[in-house]
Amino acid sequence: MSSTKYKLPNLPFSEKLIYINGEWVEPAGQQSAKVENPDTASIISEVPECTVEDVDRAVQAAYAAFHDGPWVNEYSGAQRRDALLMLADEIEQHRAEIELIESINTGKPISDVRGELDDTIDLFRHFAGYADKVEGRHIAAQTNAKLQGYTTKVPVGVVGFINAFNYPICLLAWKVAPALAAGCTIVFKPGPQTPLTTQYFAHLLHKTGRFPPGVFNVVLGGITAGQALVDHDLTDKIGFTGSVATGKQVIRSTASSKNVRSASVELGGKSPGVVMPDVDLDKTAELVVSGCMSNAGMNCNALTRLWVHRSIYDEFLPRLKNAAEALVLGTPQDEQTQMGPLIDERQYKRVLEYIRIGREEDKAEILTGGKPVPERGGYWIQPTLFYNVDPKARIATEEIFGPVLSVLKPFDSLDEVIEIERKNEFGLAAGIFTHSHKDIAKFTRKLRSGTIWVNNYNGLYSYLPFGGFRNSGFGRELGYESFDGYLVPKAIIDDISA
Ligand code: NAD
Repeated sequence: MSSTKYKLPNLPFSEKLIYINGEWVEPAGQQSAKVENPDTASIISEVPECTVEDVDRAVQAAYAAFHDGPWVNEYSGAQRRDALLMLADEIEQHRAEIELIESINTGKPISDVRGELDDTIDLFRHFAGYADKVEGRHIAAQTNAKLQGYTTKVPVGVVGFINAFNYPICLLAWKVAPALAAGCTIVFKPGPQTPLTTQYFAHLLHKTGRFPPGVFNVVLGGITAGQALVDHDLTDKIGFTGSVATGKQVIRSTASSKNVRSASVELGGKSPGVVMPDVDLDKTAELVVSGCMSNAGMNCNALTRLWVHRSIYDEFLPRLKNAAEALVLGTPQDEQTQMGPLIDERQYKRVLEYIRIGREEDKAEILTGGKPVPERGGYWIQPTLFYNVDPKARIATEEIFGPVLSVLKPFDSLDEVIEIERKNEFGLAAGIFTHSHKDIAKFTRKLRSGTIWVNNYNGLYSYLPFGGFRNSGFGRELGYESFDGYLVPKAIIDDISA
């Protein structure tokens, strides 16, 4: 294990500092937090826990940059576009180091992290293309020929971002690339478990020399820093990704602070998948297992409620079991590894508790898995399949955020599935596996899900919006829709006779 491919590389910035107003500065307080490698539960770094004072300093910097700085007031859209393209190039040049840091800090297989970096670079290039295409409307005078009305779209202002731990660099790009393209300024807080690639990103952004001081600022920490950012009266919008409970708290705070502000909240999911009898069972079993177990099940859109048609139920279960047992668990930095550990001890205990609930309270049967993998030392749990699960069971309705799939009791008609899924608390994603156009049309029309995959699962793209219904939150990330979310229209009424 002495190879450099398993070790955190030397970082080109000091982890003890925070990036505010174009500089690496000392935090106001003395508190720090340890950063772990979840594969082995070993400490790999220590970073500051920001205080309310640090958050205030960062927001003040973003506010000054927005109202008085060149990014918003002097740069053309084309200049912002070129800055973002240069940033994408910088990330690309340093991607191997970022991938290694991300894999060690999240425990994610290195091959998956490569896909995350592909997406990150693509996102900056994609949204760079919008920076010089901000459009308004001209509305011909309707009631008074002397008046001319038109709209311009302006950046929403200072955006406070709060991220989840599960895709640290990619979810950063989901948020930061469209917001910068729209001309906003930013204070960004990563998940407390995974600060390192956000700091690396700040280092690269600084290195381009194209982003004036205060345009992008980082604060680190957990609840204190997050709450201070949400509560700060100089922020104009909050972009949040995380659990339903924290998301609701964020919405309450943005509504009750002195100045109301808009929020986009991307929350959890309990996404159903439906297997109809006309599909290739082996191929579909593999798609279902990767749809659930990718990122050790810590995906908001993970396929966790599986409906299998009664006529193929008994044939399909052994295929699912085989696909889950074939997953390669191992050192995340090894090429062949397909599944890694949970992110931390809290998540590990939570998943084990849900496995207990599944067995003891929900009385569901285990097809495979259900146990920790103690010999690895970190937060490992086997890919776990329950079957014959009641659709109302706790393991079938609550977000577990781990490698646990509930195969529900067999169904007879798609209408029955749609009727039950109408009551799903979440509405982030869903999948259907069939070649029947009639069933595909019915499912995609009726289901209130932000994303619906047909005969595939998990792929997300810079050009397609992503977000939820109901408790999965509101607002959209990715696609033109996310860029538009960082702009607000102004109506100008001009008396042309004056
Ligand atoms: P979490 O809610 O525990 O934390 C999310 C973030 O909120 C962290 O940065 C945390 O420090 C911060 N935070 C905590 N308390 C806060 C407060 N009072 N005010 C402001 N910020 C606060 O979630 P998590 O465990 O980091 O992430 C997992 C959750 O994220 C899952 O529910 C998952 O489904 C969801 N998620 C959703 C999407 C999506 O796009 N819909 C994507 C990824 C993850």
